[in-house]
Amino acid sequence: MRLIIAFALCLASVSIVNAQLKPPVETVMDRFLRYVKIDTQSAEDQTTTPSTRKQLNLANLLAKELTALGAENVRVSEFGIVYATVPGNLADNSKVPVVGFIAHMDTSPAVSGENVNAIIHKNYQGGDITLPKDPTQVITVDKNPVLKSLIGTDIITADGTTLLGSDDKSGCAEVMTMIDILRQNPQLKHGTLAIAFTPDEEVGGGIEKFDVKAFGAKVAYTVDGEELGEISDETWSARTATVTFQGKSTHPGTAKGIMINAMYAIADYLNRFPHDMLPETTEGRVGFVHPYAGVIDVESSNLKILLRDFDMSGLDAKEKTLRDMVAQTAAKFPQVKITIDVKENYKNMKEVLKNYPELTVNAMEAAKRAGLTPFLKPIRGGTDGSNLTFRGLPTPNLFTGGGNFHGKLEFNSRKGLEKSTETLVNLVQIFAEKS
Ligand SMILES: [Zn+2]
Repeated sequence: MRLIIAFALCLASVSIVNAQLKPPVETVMDRFLRYVKIDTQSAEDQTTTPSTRKQLNLANLLAKELTALGAENVRVSEFGIVYATVPGNLADNSKVPVVGFIAHMDTSPAVSGENVNAIIHKNYQGGDITLPKDPTQVITVDKNPVLKSLIGTDIITADGTTLLGSDDKSGCAEVMTMIDILRQNPQLKHGTLAIAFTPDEEVGGGIEKFDVKAFGAKVAYTVDGEELGEISDETWSARTATVTFQGKSTHPGTAKGIMINAMYAIADYLNRFPHDMLPETTEGRVGFVHPYAGVIDVESSNLKILLRDFDMSGLDAKEKTLRDMVAQTAAKFPQVKITIDVKENYKNMKEVLKNYPELTVNAMEAAKRAGLTPFLKPIRGGTDGSNLTFRGLPTPNLFTGGGNFHGKLEFNSRKGLEKSTETLVNLVQIFAEKS
């Protein structure tokens, strides 16, 4: 009996909270469905930013919508980055740090984002989801256990011929709807917010052109993660090694005693890779070395290798392993000149974010207030936030509710979009409360 009363009281308090909030002018779902129709696929190996002009179609639309939502100083930079400011509504906004929110507009070059036909699987009741235009494309519960937490909501997918673009139009729609809700509900107190939508995240080019100073935020979040509750304040530290094997080529008919074939040395080197230290044999917090490209030739062969680890000491150890392997191969092939060159790519953002624990604490509190169970997940990759963090803008990553990024099985859900938006609305209030 007591249980029943407690449950009824709990329900009542939830509905009071909801009743207090005026809905946004446009729902996050409607915004999302509108944005995914705009093809914003980026392209590798371009010399311009944005890499594809079509990304500007979404950039210009978002700029227009930001202005309509009362944002200030709205502009699209020469590189297609949309910047805006949402004024705070406190008696003294200067007491609260300016918090930035960043989402990216482009979709992966891996799969087409043209003519995206979003399918809404209404009131999902469990089970695998087959995409209508290609029955070989199936989102299985087995590979996506998160589906079990989405029973009863609407799931959004593509039709099987394209990606959906949840990555990261979910983030775009959620940030826009946060601004909308804050505008409709001035009783929700927050400091000044800096907003940015970036191009070319998927090809790693856009963030180089990001103007941290003009953005004006003290701290920021990228809204570009997956499962509800997933918060990331840790990424790989990354290096790339190039190992070059210099031999000597000559006409094979007169090669005796002259030719030095570098191909045998590169084969020997490849054979020395430790099998328990590769992408295909590691997961979680375990780093890897990954030979991913190379040239094989008598005269000069080379190999490019990724080094990844969450800890700098682990990364140093991996570099030492590669150098030791060079020494071993060199001993076996003394006539081949072998050199190794290692470059730093990016560092684990935790090296900086450990000095800003409130960013993670506040995000977790915001997710809890939205009824979610937040959890920390280190990213086996880099984010735009890694770059920004080391340029002086500490930037962890927040969930968007989506999944299966970069493929035809990509999805999000009504619950995913709404709960992510609610978390953002909570988050800006938490910064105001704590200052
Ligand atoms: Zn993304």
